[in-house]
Amino acid sequence: MQEYNIKNYLENVKTVGMCGHIHPDGDCVGSCLGLYTYLKHNFSEISVDLYLQPIADSFHFLKYSDEIIHTADEDKEYDLFITLDVSADDRLGDFVKYFQTAKNTLCIDHHISNLGIAKNNIIYPDYSSASEVVYTILDEDKVDYDTANALYLGIVHDTGVFKYPNTSRQTMEIAGKLIAKGIPFNEIIDNTFYEKTYVQNQILGRTLMESVLFYDGMCIFSVVRREEFEFYNITTNDLDGIVEQMRVTKGVECAIFLYETAELEYKVSLRSKKNIDVSKIASYFGGGGHMRAAGFNAKGTVYDVINNISEQIELQLKEE
Ligand code: AMP
Ligand code: MN
Ligand code: MN
Repeated sequence: MQEYNIKNYLENVKTVGMCGHIHPDGDCVGSCLGLYTYLKHNFSEISVDLYLQPIADSFHFLKYSDEIIHTADEDKEYDLFITLDVSADDRLGDFVKYFQTAKNTLCIDHHISNLGIAKNNIIYPDYSSASEVVYTILDEDKVDYDTANALYLGIVHDTGVFKYPNTSRQTMEIAGKLIAKGIPFNEIIDNTFYEKTYVQNQILGRTLMESVLFYDGMCIFSVVRREEFEFYNITTNDLDGIVEQMRVTKGVECAIFLYETAELEYKVSLRSKKNIDVSKIASYFGGGGHMRAAGFNAKGTVYDVINNISEQIELQLKEE
């Protein structure tokens, strides 16, 4: 039985604002555009705005991706503001102002670290993706081809193409129902997940080459510095997949990937295989995420950041 349905939050609602997290990934874009498309196609009397920072070029085939608003310049107060795939309000970026001024708010998410940031919260930590959560709050017969493309893309990205342990029987059943809408599922996987531009491959190769193993090969870390962004003319969207490749190194239990956001400031991505709960480590440093994939922002030298994380890893290994 369906526990929640989006239509129950739309009574007397004329304006909806929506957004995902800063540095939008596949699930963030998929869940946002999936719900946006569903609302536009089934609730045409409601005016909907979707806010996201710029998205990867490969996601632009999705319907309405050209309608995404990238700035928070306009002052607007929405009847309902919906956040998708956002685990904490500091992940809303500039769009937080719409969240704060809206008459009602709804958080749709799957992060274990999310304690409920909105007035209404639909959070399933055991679901693969925010896109999977979105699917379960829609009327199945009203999910059309365009909505299906977006939600499938989101699920593909957050499950690493159905291979991470967050993939469940329900995930596969929903993916099957989305495929039945006639979407080009193989192209979505190839063109948005596996395909890399030449420079994306270059930065991947360079980062792997410079990676360092420690703790008897159980941990691996690497870093992309600001000069490299300039040299390769890349954005953070071009770094997707690097930490996953580090994680699958034989013998590695925990992968740590950093990129420099400002002088002595880093975005940290953590991934683990079996024994380390990286969500705990990220939460300890003020971030969040899932047991096997989490992140946070850190200040200091690379040496300090790695040292601090190592201490937390060691604590967990000792607890066992
Ligand atoms: P990433 O390493 O950026 O791909 O993120 C891995 C997971 O951790 C995603 O589910 C993110 O939403 C979450 N995450 C990453 N960075 C943060 C942060 N600073 N605060 C809270 N959650 C984060
Ligand atoms: Mn995400
Ligand atoms: Mn997600």
